[in-house]
Amino acid sequence: MDMRIGGTFTSSESELSFSVMNPAYNTVYESVPRSSHADVQHAVEAAQDAFTIWSAEEPIFRAKVLFHAAEKVRSESASLASLLTHEQGKPLRESVNEIQGFARVLEYYASICSHIQGDYSYSKAYGHSFVVKRPVGVCAAIIPWNLPALIMSWKVGSALAAGCTVVLKPASTAPLTCLQLGKILDDSGLTPGALNIITGPGAVVGEALATNPHIAAVSFTGEAETGKHLAQKVTPSLTRLTLELGGSDPMIICADASITKAVAGAVMGRFFNSGQTCVATKRVFVDASIYDKFIRELISAMQHIVPGDGMHPQTTMGPLNNLAQKDIVSGQVQETIDAKQGSIRYQGRLSEHADPAGFFFPPTLLTDVSPDAPVMQQEVFGPVLPVVPFTSIDEAIDLANATKYGLGASIWTTQLETIHAIAPSLRSGVVWVNQHLKVPPEVPFGGVKDSGFGRENGFQALDHYLEEKSVLIKL
Ligand code: NDP
Repeated sequence: MDMRIGGTFTSSESELSFSVMNPAYNTVYESVPRSSHADVQHAVEAAQDAFTIWSAEEPIFRAKVLFHAAEKVRSESASLASLLTHEQGKPLRESVNEIQGFARVLEYYASICSHIQGDYSYSKAYGHSFVVKRPVGVCAAIIPWNLPALIMSWKVGSALAAGCTVVLKPASTAPLTCLQLGKILDDSGLTPGALNIITGPGAVVGEALATNPHIAAVSFTGEAETGKHLAQKVTPSLTRLTLELGGSDPMIICADASITKAVAGAVMGRFFNSGQTCVATKRVFVDASIYDKFIRELISAMQHIVPGDGMHPQTTMGPLNNLAQKDIVSGQVQETIDAKQGSIRYQGRLSEHADPAGFFFPPTLLTDVSPDAPVMQQEVFGPVLPVVPFTSIDEAIDLANATKYGLGASIWTTQLETIHAIAPSLRSGVVWVNQHLKVPPEVPFGGVKDSGFGRENGFQALDHYLEEKSVLIKL
């Protein structure tokens, strides 16, 4: 499959390509161009040309294009979901939900296109003062492989709604669905070149894109160390930057919580997408008085997880997306055990639909885990859940905050008082109560500490793509 520049499928000037694997079998599924610096420049120029037209369109026109694209995406969701499962690995029903999520984000930004407003004030001394909001220009979007369609929508939906044009670089292990979604947007009336999608290694293509002098803003989602590296490259040019980085979300389960609901929340929070979600539940802290019961019910729920090929109807958990990821996750578990900082309490079995060559890792429950264990201190991007008991709310808060990350966190309780006691003390961008993992397009989402800065979703995401100009009029 070719990349997309100027509204059409385009090969690379380098004439090189690389393979996209099916992670369920470790077989080649497709190939895409390995773009060169010249391709990056070409894509940025196409976006610059399109910016003159797209930024001048009436907001209502931009809304119509986004609504139209969302409708087409919904009508093609079966084939898009199949493509997503083949390149990413997730179960087909999760892919369908992600594709519907892409459409929903586009619909949300279409619905607020016409509500981008500035400000006004008047004084005798200075006259009428208007603050107008203008699109910043050509934006770079760099995204990971775990939720390629959804994360693409967060960046592309808000940027296009604001009147910006975009060059997007998807992850090398999951670029195909993004390319097809780009085609649908182009077919829906987008100005050719308003969205360009280039493929190739992040360290070369991503970096060349982010540091291109014609890029007005960079929005990056990925690993914390990559984000920090990119920040060093981008900062000297004073280019705007948003970093949506990793997380190690805690889940605090209080004594009064419904254990059944908390177990369901932990299973969904941790094993959805094989644990490869930035806001996955990565550490569980349970009141010691309900710990044993929670563990028993959790194991019983984990026994129903069926790891296998995402295309098989019985599969509830797919493989990890790539071999490197599988090696990292098994290394984190092994290091924890070797250091006697935790032990495996339960590990599920792979189903007969899990090919031995695929990148599968079984659902794993760790107990007796020390707060310094690798699985507690590092982001674990796989189906591994450490569970730790606590004896006081203060201890739970300290444990929850004892990581460099600060993306999401959840509290499980029926007491309003407990929510107010814990929520303000959690150092995270999002706090859920009796739920986890929910990221609606209307609500701003992002992190603190090493989880990055800037917000996706909501009106707040538009700030990244708009600049304010003050006009003071005296007649
Ligand atoms: P990476 O940081 O490895 O890669 C993310 C993207 O950056 C890819 O497109 C990659 O390209 C590209 N890239 C790699 N190196 C550079 C570079 N030097 N300059 C510019 N771009 C570069 O992350 P993963 O793909 O492994 O994604 C998983 C991470 O993403 C996890 O930490 C997860 O928590 C985080 N994430 C954060 C979210 C949030 O909103 N906070 C949401 C979802 C995920 P290539 O694929 O070619 O290497």
